[in-house]
Amino acid sequence: MGELGEPPLLDHERHALFLDFDGTLVGFADDPEGIELEPGTLQRLKALQTSQGGALALISGRALASIDRFLAPFTFPAAGVHGQELRFHPGESVEAAPPPAAIEVARERLGLEIGAHDPLRLEDKGAALVIHYRTAPHEEERALELAEAAIAGLDGLRLVKGHAIAEIRPQNVHKGKAIERLMARSPFAERAPVFVGDDTTDEDGFRFVASRGGFGVKVGEGETAASYRLADVPAVHRWLQEAAR
Ligand SMILES: [Mg+2]
Repeated sequence: MGELGEPPLLDHERHALFLDFDGTLVGFADDPEGIELEPGTLQRLKALQTSQGGALALISGRALASIDRFLAPFTFPAAGVHGQELRFHPGESVEAAPPPAAIEVARERLGLEIGAHDPLRLEDKGAALVIHYRTAPHEEERALELAEAAIAGLDGLRLVKGHAIAEIRPQNVHKGKAIERLMARSPFAERAPVFVGDDTTDEDGFRFVASRGGFGVKVGEGETAASYRLADVPAVHRWLQEAAR
């Protein structure tokens, strides 16, 4: 593990807290819908939301409908599909940007290559397409090749590699932008953003929060633009537990 230290405790008056979901608040499962929340997670998030004056949001690559299922009966301000979907206040409706036209071409290309019995699994998030190879790690190279071929010659899309996934999504959509848009509104505005995430797709978020006087917290190993590091999901929960006091 690198030389980054553990993050300081949150300042409830000064910080706005942004949390990634998979790999940060919950561990991974072969089926993304099969993950399990650690006991106490919901209560901890709810307590933090209160102590933060509402300035807590989830920033995920998942669709918000999926996040909401796991956190029911609560809803939180959140960005889904890396910011393609946004909800500014709990209980409000979700604002979804229209997906770029090129995504349809990429979807068609991948649909021709990845059939029902393929060891690779294609997930269609509407504005983003994800090739999963968690259950078929030997297929990683093919997954990346297929993703590259799917966006070849198309404008406005980019390929991002994550934990056992290759994801195609709109070029101008990323977690840094998602946090920036939430930061423009109450109760986030005027606070310093803190973002906790584990994956390469979180690096845009780390860069953004640093530019606004806040800090990033990288979960797990790897090169990062974050200022601090926590070892794993249980370490995140311990830090949040302390911070909720
Ligand atoms: Mg993650």
